[in-house]
Amino acid sequence: MAILVTGGAGYIGSHTCIELLNAGYEIIILDNFYNSKRESLNRIKELSGKDFKFYECDIRDRKGLDNIFENEKIEAVIHFAGLKAVGESCRKPLEYYDNNIGGTVTLCQAMRDHGVKKIVFSSSATVYGMNNISPLREDMQTGGTTNPYGTTKYMIEIILQDLYKADNEWSIALLRYFNPIGAHKSGRIGEDPNGIPNNLMPYISQVAIGKLPCLNIFGNDYDTPDGTGVRDYIHVVDLALGHVKAVEKVMGCKELNIYNLGTGTGYSVLDIVNAFKKASGVDVPYKIAPRRDGDIATCYSDPSKALKELGWKAERGLEEMCEDTWRWQKNNPDGYPDD
Ligand code: NAD
Ligand code: UDP
Repeated sequence: MAILVTGGAGYIGSHTCIELLNAGYEIIILDNFYNSKRESLNRIKELSGKDFKFYECDIRDRKGLDNIFENEKIEAVIHFAGLKAVGESCRKPLEYYDNNIGGTVTLCQAMRDHGVKKIVFSSSATVYGMNNISPLREDMQTGGTTNPYGTTKYMIEIILQDLYKADNEWSIALLRYFNPIGAHKSGRIGEDPNGIPNNLMPYISQVAIGKLPCLNIFGNDYDTPDGTGVRDYIHVVDLALGHVKAVEKVMGCKELNIYNLGTGTGYSVLDIVNAFKKASGVDVPYKIAPRRDGDIATCYSDPSKALKELGWKAERGLEEMCEDTWRWQKNNPDGYPDD
């Protein structure tokens, strides 16, 4: 029996596939390469020393999904596939609702019709909205999202909760990621954003390598120790290992569970800039810019539920997150080569 990984060629998916293969699982990857390159699949093989099947398929393509479920023995699905750029989601809301929500509904219908009722879903800390005070716990109120991307995550959580209420043969894990950064230790796989990065860490690493002139720090007048925004950055390999634990959980129960995947520690933008400079030995020029719409001052997790119920906790610190990001950036200044 295999684990189907949707979006497995992407940033978090590729790291998770390596950890699943290392743990001895058989995997099948599905991706439409909307935001990834084929080369990431070669590197998963290279780093794990193992082979796997791959389907180029869109999660909105019901016939394509039926073909996979008919031909493969799939026990559970880890569902990463989705669009994730906050700014783009404000410009193209219909595309985001179609891809993320429509795609997830089609995937779950195909799963149900083929008797596969175990799913791990990539949610986000963004579902906690603007009004909760950190540390964020899974039982806090969700909603009040500030952009279509966040709303798709919030709505998919509700859809999956309704699905479980209607049929508790399902087993579902909703994983709320905090801020994934870093890369595989080898420097062979990492985050490869299209165009100018939206997120802090890829922006910093592109400034450090000289592709961008200067980091804009979005506000230094927040109510935080140094005035810049505080977030819970988590090493992508720790996040990947959290998925191995979560998929083991869904394969062993018929429950719906929600877990924060974070470290529980908040770092400011300036903390990250300084840690990156130290790890890379390279300067990161920055200037203070206005606040970014929709940003909050502070967001970090209470990760204790995942420790208690999954036996998982993040082990890698900020220094390692910066060193690994820099190794990937330095060795692959233009990301993955084109197909
Ligand atoms: P990514 O863009 O690197 O990976 C997503 C993958 O899904 C890509 O390979 C893309 O080609 C594929 N994909 C997109 N739409 C598809 C479709 N319709 N059919 C098939 N494949 C499709 O993103 P990531 O950073 O690895 O994120 C993975 C998941 O985690 C996403 O759902 C994202 O929203 C969620 N998430 C990410 C973060 C983050 O900061 N990276 C934070 C919270 C949640
Ligand atoms: N940030 C910044 N400059 C950038 C990108 C991000 O100052 O070019 C800040 C942002 O305001 C927030 C933090 O860095 O305080 C993390 O932002 P990111 O977009 O990486 O993640 P978010 O927490 O918003 O999902």
